[in-house]
Amino acid sequence: MQKEVEKGFFMETFQEMVDLFQGINWDESEKDFLTKLLKIAIKIIPEAEYGSIWLIKGALYEAIVGIGYDEDLIKEMVVPFNESYVSNHMDKDLIEVQNILNYNSPETDLYKISKKLHKETNQMVTLISALKNKDNVIGHIYIDSYHVDSFDDNSKKMLRMFSNLASIFLTLKILRDSEKETVETNSNYLSFISHELRTPMTSIIGFAETILNNEDLNKDEIRSIIRKILFSTKHMNSLLDDISTFNKLNKEKRLNLEKLNLKKLLYQVLSMLEPTASPDVEINLDFPLDIPVDIETDETKLNQVLVNVIGNAMKYTTEGSIDIRVGYESHTKHFLIEVKDTGPGIPEDKLKDIFRPFFRVSKDKPGSGLGLAIVKKNLKMLKGSVEVKSKIGKGTTFLIKIPQSISGIVDKS
Ligand code: ADP
Repeated sequence: MQKEVEKGFFMETFQEMVDLFQGINWDESEKDFLTKLLKIAIKIIPEAEYGSIWLIKGALYEAIVGIGYDEDLIKEMVVPFNESYVSNHMDKDLIEVQNILNYNSPETDLYKISKKLHKETNQMVTLISALKNKDNVIGHIYIDSYHVDSFDDNSKKMLRMFSNLASIFLTLKILRDSEKETVETNSNYLSFISHELRTPMTSIIGFAETILNNEDLNKDEIRSIIRKILFSTKHMNSLLDDISTFNKLNKEKRLNLEKLNLKKLLYQVLSMLEPTASPDVEINLDFPLDIPVDIETDETKLNQVLVNVIGNAMKYTTEGSIDIRVGYESHTKHFLIEVKDTGPGIPEDKLKDIFRPFFRVSKDKPGSGLGLAIVKKNLKMLKGSVEVKSKIGKGTTFLIKIPQSISGIVDKS
C-alpha cells in the first residue's frame, strides 16, 4: 500500500520540515520535536507505515517516540541496550533488516514487547538509521513496512537526511544544555570561593587574633579557642576536598571497571559513615538473599555516590531511621538502591535544584553543595541515574539506579 509521492506533495512536506526547523523552541522536549520530525518522515517516505525513535540512556535503550504503535506499549519499551539488535551493528549508519524480531532471543523482554508491538507479524522490513552526537551513536530512527520486501534507494537517502536533521537537533540541544550548566557553575564557583571559603577563613583569623591580643587568657580558654580554629580548618579542608573531587570529575573521562561485590561495598560504606550518624537514628540495610551481589563498575565512583547520598542522610537526620534497601530489576539488569531517611525533608520547589553544583537548601549543616552534583556526574558516567522524593517534616528518599554491568557501553569520547 505504497503512498503516491507527487511533486506537489513532496514540496508541501518539505516546507513542513523547513517550518519545523524555523520554529524550533529549544525549551521544547526532545520527544515533541522528534515526534513531529518522524511524522513528516513517515509521510514522505513511500514505503514507511510505522516508525519509532530510540535513544541510548545510560545502559538502557528507550523508545521515546512511536508513530502508528500503541502509545501505552511504547512506554514499556525500555530494555538493556546490549540486548538490542543494533548493539551489534554500531559501526553502521544505515541498516535494513527483514523481520527484526527473529534476531532477539525469545526469552528477552525485548522480544516479548516487540512481538506485541509488531502485532505478531512475521512479514516486515525495517530501515534503521543512527542518530549521532559527534562520533557517538546516541540513538536510532526506525521505520517499518509490512508491505514491501525492501526500501527503495531514495527512501534510504531520505531516512539518512531525517536522521541527520534529528542528530543536529539533539547535538545542539546537548551543547546548549551543557553551555548553560557551565555558565551557571562558573558563577556559582566564584561566589563559593568568595563567600563559603571566606567564612571559615575569617573565623580562623578572628580566633587567632583573640589569642594574640589577650595576654591574660588562661590555658583552658586558649585550648577552647584552638578547638574552634581546628573545627574551622577541618571545615575548610572538607570544602577544598569537594572542590578538588568536582574539578577532577570535569576532566577525567576514563572508567576503571572491576567486578565487585555490591553487598560488601555497602557494608564498607556504612561502617565508615556510621560514626557520623546521630545516636538517635537507627540504620538498616536490607539486601535480599535472592538477588545478585556481583556488579561490574568503577569502584571509586560508585563509592563516592554511596558515601555522598548515605552521608547526607546521616548528616541531615537527627532522629528516626535511615533505611537502605537494595533491589534488582531483572528486565533491565539494574540494581535499585533506595536510601530513605526521616530527616527534615527538602521543599518541593527545591528538589530540581539540589543536584546543581554549589546549591544548598539551608546552611545549618556544614557542606559545599557539591555532594549531589558529584553523585549525578558519577552516575552519568556509570550509566545510571538518581531520583529524589521528599516531604517536609517526613523525610527524603533517594533512588539510585545502576546497571549490573557496563562493559561494552562506554562512550568513545
Ligand atoms: P551539601 O554539601 O550541602 O550537603 P549536597 O550537594 O550533598 O550538598 O546536597 C545539596 C543540598 O540538598 C543540601 O545542602 C541539603 O539542603 C539537601 N539535602 C541533600 N540530602 C538531603 C537529605 N537526605 N535530607 C535533607 N536535605 C538534603
